[in-house]
Amino acid sequence: MPLTLRVDAARWRQHLHDTWTDQLVPVAKGNGYGFGRDRLLAEAGDLGARTVAVGIYEEVPAAPDADVVVLSPWRPFLDVPESDRVIHTVSRAEDLRAIPAGSRVVVELQTSMLRHGILADRMPEIASRGTLDRVRFEGWSIHLPMDTGDNVREATELGRAARAVRPGTLWVSHVRTGDLASIGEDVRLRMGTALWLGDRLALDVRATVLDVHPVRRGERVGYRQRRCPADGHLLVVSGGTAHGIGMEAPTAAATVRQRAVTLAKGGLDAAGRALSPYTVGGKQRWFVEPPHMQASMLFLPSSVKAPVVGDEIGVDVRFTTTTFDRVILR
Ligand SMILES: *Cc1c(COP(=O)(O)O)cnc(C)c1O
Repeated sequence: MPLTLRVDAARWRQHLHDTWTDQLVPVAKGNGYGFGRDRLLAEAGDLGARTVAVGIYEEVPAAPDADVVVLSPWRPFLDVPESDRVIHTVSRAEDLRAIPAGSRVVVELQTSMLRHGILADRMPEIASRGTLDRVRFEGWSIHLPMDTGDNVREATELGRAARAVRPGTLWVSHVRTGDLASIGEDVRLRMGTALWLGDRLALDVRATVLDVHPVRRGERVGYRQRRCPADGHLLVVSGGTAHGIGMEAPTAAATVRQRAVTLAKGGLDAAGRALSPYTVGGKQRWFVEPPHMQASMLFLPSSVKAPVVGDEIGVDVRFTTTTFDRVILR
């Protein structure tokens, strides 16, 4: 009863190829953007990536074929794999002193993100204490917000300040490949979403219809024994909370007030109904009740021709929060 991601492999790889430059550092973290991390690491290898990035130490592959930057910063309490392939991100002065001597390190600078990082202003003093000399310094990391239009300027200024302290590669995010040259020489760009999910038309998500029941208006159905809103069909389709389906507040259907109520309750269905991400007959359909672990129940009005068991229907998912049962490249 699979929730399936079908990938038009030729089209997808064409986009990867068109996007690729030697400065790219493909990011394969979390759920692997829906594809799975192993698949992305293999594709990165085929593209010729010398360095890849993962999110956390647990995601470092057992025997990496490339250098692996771990994006989440090193902390003294983390379990760290022993591999000369691993490049650590260090984002605090005390961690620069505490990380084992000789570790490969990029130093993360604080940006307008205000997530992790050392203030560039503090680096001269920190470096003067020799902290950069006890590690294998691999450069500076600059993590920027979704491109606001100001990212190139911010990267350029931070990079200039940092390189006055110690020359090295600048590892940046969320700028366009075409802007890299204006930031300076020896700049690398971490990229996930725009690389793997940059051509949505290469991707098609399908759920399977598992059951179809005719229903009458007012008939009670589901775990919650809700009443059906009208005559029609109840569809049981693959995909549920275990896949990440319906785990966000619905957007298109709800008024601002409904959304506020829904959010306050921490789930779907504040007004008794929520629009699902499933489409039948070209339209998104209503959930009958919040999704179950691996299946969801939808209502289809009698004006729409019901699918039959085994048919596939479309689903509009967020790839970074969805776990597919199958990923098929063709
Ligand atoms: C996730 C991440 C990226 C990649 O982000 P995308 O928006 O998927 O391209 C780059 N840099 C850092 C530090 C990240 O955590």
